[in-house]
Amino acid sequence: MKIISSIKELRDQLRGQRGIVFVPTMGNIHEGHLSLIRLAGQHGERVVVSIFVNQLQFGPGEDFVKYPRTLDRDIEKLQQENVYMLFAPTEQDMYPSPQEYQIYPPHDLCYTLEGKFRTRFFCGVSTVVMKLISCVQPRIMVFGKKDYQQLIIVRQMCEQFALPVEVCAAETIRDADGLALSSRNTYLTPSERSEAPTLFRILQHIRSTVLTTGHRDFTKIELSAFQTLIERGWQPDYIAIRKRANLRLPQLHKEHEPLIVLIAAQLGKTRLIDNLEI
Ligand code: AMP
Repeated sequence: MKIISSIKELRDQLRGQRGIVFVPTMGNIHEGHLSLIRLAGQHGERVVVSIFVNQLQFGPGEDFVKYPRTLDRDIEKLQQENVYMLFAPTEQDMYPSPQEYQIYPPHDLCYTLEGKFRTRFFCGVSTVVMKLISCVQPRIMVFGKKDYQQLIIVRQMCEQFALPVEVCAAETIRDADGLALSSRNTYLTPSERSEAPTLFRILQHIRSTVLTTGHRDFTKIELSAFQTLIERGWQPDYIAIRKRANLRLPQLHKEHEPLIVLIAAQLGKTRLIDNLEI
C-alpha cells in the first residue's frame, strides 16, 4: 500500500490511472470502514482510501480536538486489505489558506435532521468531498448508509455538478448487540456502552410497528420513542420517519413509498446517530 500525504504527490502517482474506487474516511478504522473498502474492491482494483479529520465539518464545541486519531493502527489494518493507496493529507495540505469557496447543499436537505443540530456539518462535508474528488478523480466512491443524510447529499451533489463519479452505498455494520460501529463509540463509558444498543432496538421497534400494524400516525410513533429515550436517560435530538429518496416528510396516503427512520441522541457526553430502512 502506498502512503501519500500531499496532493501533489497524489496527483503524480495517480496520473493517467482510470477506474479508481475511492473510500473517504476520518480514520480510526473499524469494521464499518473495512466493509466499505471490501465493497470498493468489488468495483475495481485500484482502491484509494483517505484519512482526514475535516475541521470544516465540526462546529464550535464539537469533538474536533478529541476525535480519535490512530494513524499507525489504521495503516496496519489497511495493509491487511486490498488497498492500493492511502491518502492521508495534512491540514496544511488540504487547507493551505482558509477555504472560502464552499459547497452549500439545498436548504431543505442541509438544515434538517442532522443539519438542524450541526449547522456547519453538510457544507463542511460537501466541500471536503468535492475537494477530495478533485484530488483523487475516482470513477466510483463508496459511502456508508450509517450516515444516510450524508450519502443522499453527496450523491445529489455529484449528480447536480455532473461529476464523473458514481456513488455506491454500503450497509451499516453493527456489533453483535446491534450498536452501529462508530469511532465515537470509543467515548462511551462501560455503562453507557451497555445502554447504547437501545438506539437500534428503538429503530427496530418503529420499523415493525409501521410494517406489521400499518400504523401511519408517524408523529405519535416518533413521540413515543422520544419519550422512551428520555426516560432511559438519553437526550434525543430527533427521531424521524422520512422518505428514503430525499428525506422529506412522507405523504400519509402513499403507502408504498420506501421509508427510513433516522435517530440522533446524546448519551452522557457522546452523540450517536443511526437509521434503519423500513
Ligand atoms: P467516518 O470515518 O466516520 O467519516 O466514516 C467514513 C465512511 O464510513 C462514511 O461513508 C460512513 O458512512 C462509513 N461508516 C461509518 N460507520 C459505519 C458502519 N458502522 N458501517 C458502515 N459504514 C460506516
